Amino acid sequence: MDQFDAIVVGAGLAGLAAAYTLAGAGFEVLVLERGDYPGAKNVSGGRLYINPVRDLFPGLLEKAPLERYIAWEGITLMAADRSVQMSYTGRELREEPRQSYSVLRSRFDRWLAAQAEKKGATILTGIRVDDVIKDSRKVTGVLAGGEDLRAEVVLACDGVLSLIPERAGLRTPGMPRDHAVGVKEVIALDAGTINERFHLEGDEGAAYLYVGDATRGRFGGGFLYTNKESLSLGIVAGLGDFLKDGQSPDVPGLLDRFKNRPEITRLIRGGTPVEYAAHVIPEGGFRALGRLWGDGILVAGDAAGLALNIGFTVRGMEYALASGCLAAQAVLRAKEAGRFDADTLSVYERLLEDSFVLKDFRNFQAAPAVMENPRFFDHYPETIGDLLRDIYAVPAGPKERLYPTLRKILRPGEIWSLFKDLKAMARL
Ligand SMILES: Cc1cc2nc3c(=O)[nH]c(=O)nc-3n(C[C@H](O)[C@H](O)[C@H](O)COP(=O)(O)OP(=O)(O)OC[C@H]3O[C@@H](n4cnc5c(N)ncnc54)[C@H](O)[C@@H]3O)c2cc1C
Repeated sequence: MDQFDAIVVGAGLAGLAAAYTLAGAGFEVLVLERGDYPGAKNVSGGRLYINPVRDLFPGLLEKAPLERYIAWEGITLMAADRSVQMSYTGRELREEPRQSYSVLRSRFDRWLAAQAEKKGATILTGIRVDDVIKDSRKVTGVLAGGEDLRAEVVLACDGVLSLIPERAGLRTPGMPRDHAVGVKEVIALDAGTINERFHLEGDEGAAYLYVGDATRGRFGGGFLYTNKESLSLGIVAGLGDFLKDGQSPDVPGLLDRFKNRPEITRLIRGGTPVEYAAHVIPEGGFRALGRLWGDGILVAGDAAGLALNIGFTVRGMEYALASGCLAAQAVLRAKEAGRFDADTLSVYERLLEDSFVLKDFRNFQAAPAVMENPRFFDHYPETIGDLLRDIYAVPAGPKERLYPTLRKILRPGEIWSLFKDLKAMARL
C-alpha cells in the first residue's frame, strides 16, 4: 500500500494547477490521469483569460505555449439566410499584459504537466481511478488499477462527468439541463493565410462567437478562434433545450451544417482538419455547483461545476486553474493544522468566495435562466436580420420610407417583448 501526502485525480487544468502548487510547497503529490498523456482527453474551445489567474502562478503563465493574444472580438447573429456581425477591438486588448489568448489544450496541458513534474509531482498516465477508499466517513485514498493508493487528502479534478465526488457522497449525478455538449475541430491553416483572412498582424488573434442558426435557433452557439497555425471551430449545444421536446442535439451534424454556412466556409477554405473532439460542459452555474469539500477530499474545476456561459464569454479554464490552486492552498492550511477533516478543509470554500471564482458565479447566478430564453437564439437573429435586409434593400420600384419599414418589423407587441427581455437581462 503506497502512501502520499496528496492524490490528484485528473491531469486537466484543475489537477495540474493543484499538483504544481502542492509540489512547489514540498508535498509528495501523485497525479493519476486516465488519458495517455495530459491533454489527451481534454477539450476546450480554446480561449483562456489570463488576467484573473496571473497572480496565482507568479512568473508561470508568461512562459506558457499560448497561441495568439485576442485583439479582435466578434459576435454574429446568424439567421437562416443572412447574418449580422459586430466586431470589436480596443487599445486595452493590445496592451501588455494581454487579457486573453487562444490555446491548444494538447500542447498547453502537456507543458503544465512538465512544470508540475519539475516541482516534484509524480504524474502517472493511462491509469483510471475507479473508486475512493474511505475509513469510516473520511476519504483516505483511491482505488486505481486494482491497487489501494493512500493519501492524507484526495483532490477530485476529474472533469465534468466526475465520478469521484459521487463515490465520496458529495453529490448525485448531474441533470442534463445543467450541461451542454461541445464538438470541436482544429483546422490547420498557415499563419499568413490566417492573418490575411482575419485582418490580423503578428501575434494578434480573433475570437468569434455565432448565435442563432448555428444551433438551429436553439440554446448554444458556434465559435471560431485563431491559433498560430490553425483555427479552432466548434459548436456548443445546451442539452436541456434539445431534450425538452425529445430531440437529439446531433452536435456533429450541427457542426457540419455550420461549416457549410457561406460565412464560415470562406474562413476555413484550404484548411486541413487535424483534430476532432467532443465533450460535455457544465452550464448550470451557481445553482448547480456541487459540494466542494468533505472529510479528506476537495473538488475543483469542472468536477465541481465551475464553468460559466454568459453568452459573450464561455469560461471554464481559468476557473479550473484557480480552483485547483486554491484547493492546494486549502490543503497547505490543513497540513499546518495537522487535520484533513471536512471542517479544516472547508477553508477552500472561503478561499473561492474571496477570489474571483465564486464572486463571478454569484454575480452571474441568473445567467442560465436568462440564457434559456429561446428568443435570443431564434427570434432576434431572424428579426434583426430581416430589419437590415429591408433597410439595405433597393427594389426595382420605389424604396419605402425607413420609418414604415421599421414599424413593419418593430410592431407594438414586439417592442413590449423586447422590453421584457431587456428587463430580464438586467439580472446579468
Ligand atoms: C467545446 C468546448 C468549448 C469550451 N470552450 C472554452 C473556452 O473557450 N474557454 C474556457 O475557459 N473554457 C472552455 N470550455 C470549458 C473548459 O474546457 C473546461 O471548463 C476545463 O477544461 C475544465 O478543466 P478541468 O481540469 O476541470 O477538467 P478537464 O480538463 O476535463 O480534466 C479532467 C481530467 O480528468 C481525467 N479523468 C476523468 N476521470 C478520471 C478517472 N476516473 N481517473 C483518472 N483520470 C480521470 C480526464 O481524462 C481529464 O484529463 C469549453 C469546453 C468545451 C467542451
